[in-house]
Amino acid sequence: MKVISTPAAIQRIAQEFRKQGLTIGLVPTMGWFHEGHLSLMRKAKEKTDRVITTLFVNPMQFGPSEDLDNYPHDLERDCKLAEDCGVDILFAPEKSSMYSDGFASAVHVEGLTDTLCGASRPGHFDGVTTVLAKLFNQTLPHIAIFGEKDFQQLAVIRRMVKDLDFPIEILGHPIVREASGLAMSSRNTYLKDNEMEAALSLSASISQAKEFAKEKKSAADIIVAVTKKITKHKECSIDYIEIVNGINLKSCAKIDSKSQILLAVKINNRIRLIDNSQLLEN
Ligand code: AMP
Repeated sequence: MKVISTPAAIQRIAQEFRKQGLTIGLVPTMGWFHEGHLSLMRKAKEKTDRVITTLFVNPMQFGPSEDLDNYPHDLERDCKLAEDCGVDILFAPEKSSMYSDGFASAVHVEGLTDTLCGASRPGHFDGVTTVLAKLFNQTLPHIAIFGEKDFQQLAVIRRMVKDLDFPIEILGHPIVREASGLAMSSRNTYLKDNEMEAALSLSASISQAKEFAKEKKSAADIIVAVTKKITKHKECSIDYIEIVNGINLKSCAKIDSKSQILLAVKINNRIRLIDNSQLLEN
């Protein structure tokens, strides 16, 4: 596996792969790999000839009071994990090579970014779509793979790729969970032992919501039950709990096969966790 650190170098490599008729699979990440990231890399390896994983903690998608400076980081550890999954190139650029002096452009997706994480993290999705537009141009992928863990992000990316005619197939991958049910996340590393029970209330309340959906309870009743189950833990403060149509992310009152529950919860005001699930299995 090669580690590349400049946009010019990765673009040359990607152009060379394409000249040789090789397909490229892209897995964008912010590093501190866990099984969720690795499963995306394995899927890319299955689907394409060459896998490029990017590791960039993108300052543009972090708010001023968020965890940019503390985001977990260990390039050596991540290199080993990515290499073991068959990744061909790890692209880990410096901030200065991604955002040079005078950088003044942004990609904005209207509508889908107004609610949920977009409402509580203003500017976040502009950071995501802008950096992805850059990464797509730098790595020239045929396929790019994203986790359904960031459900709204995936919807926003699909919209951007369609609207701006990026010739890239976007694939989603199911959420990978710990045996306890906790959705894997690099941010789980911030959790202390005594915060674990509170963190587990996200996946536990989603399981309960799915049972209630099967029993034909209304969206409003399900949200009340989930809120109760989570706020029982004094460590938890709710950012949002919503049931939306999984395609257009609009709030839905009646549960159907497209209904998706999405949660964002802060643990002790330090750690913001998200989770989601379709409510009725197909
Ligand atoms: P991140 O490094 O958190 O920006 O995540 C990089 C990619 O991995 C994104 O497409 C995420 O949705 C995906 N991802 C993160 N956690 C998980 C998980 N538990 N299961 C599946 N995909 C995940």
